[in-house]
Amino acid sequence: MPAVFFGHGSPMNALEQNRYTAAWRRLGESAPQPKAILAISAHWFTRGTAVTAMDRPRTIHDFGGFPRELFEVQYPAPGDPKLAARVRELLAPAVEAALDNSWGLDHGAWSVLVHACPRADVPVVQLSIDGAKPPRFHYELAQKLTPLRDEGVLIVGSGNVVHNLGQIQWTGDAKPYDWAQRFNNEVREFLLARNHERLIDLAALGDDARLSVPTPDHYLPLLYVIAQQRKDETLSLPVDGIEHGSIGMLTAAIGLPAG
Ligand code: ZN
Repeated sequence: MPAVFFGHGSPMNALEQNRYTAAWRRLGESAPQPKAILAISAHWFTRGTAVTAMDRPRTIHDFGGFPRELFEVQYPAPGDPKLAARVRELLAPAVEAALDNSWGLDHGAWSVLVHACPRADVPVVQLSIDGAKPPRFHYELAQKLTPLRDEGVLIVGSGNVVHNLGQIQWTGDAKPYDWAQRFNNEVREFLLARNHERLIDLAALGDDARLSVPTPDHYLPLLYVIAQQRKDETLSLPVDGIEHGSIGMLTAAIGLPAG
């Protein structure tokens, strides 16, 4: 199975039809039908690591100030307790992942899956991100999940390469900040060159990285996806763009033909 990082941007993308959501839809159509999806979302940041283990995950509307329509979106995909147990097994003994029965599907997961997997007929499990751990820990932890690809599981990371809410500009035609554009270009280059080391060692990327990734939550899901890339495997970048000056929409797919 492929592994895909989605730059999810505004939760409103769940309702909109734009060039990002069109690319997500095409991606879903071109990927083989997965048995299940394991989603790593920027919006489930925890102490320790947890994996959702319920049969029926609820749709979580984890935002404020958006129209009622967005709060009415439901993504009724089933859970997959067996996959949760399998994830827990793969991650041990490095971490003891807690089997969670209280989370569900947050908008990092469902705002892209409503487009990539619109029938909501594939079970979805979420894996949380341990907020206390450094990037390399996440990359190495994610490598333990690689066997899932051969077990029919689509690994999905959902975040944003560039994500600075403090600098956001709400005008529709806002131009990307120079630092955002430079950092995005740098990340693209490292992704296409399979230079995982540079992508992990974010601190070495200087001020552009500090401004683009002021907090690691939206960047780390990318590491969960690139950790799946085999030596000989190509990576494609189905869609890219910077919205509102400081939100990078780059999507990266491993194990899918380009275009
Ligand atoms: Zn987000």
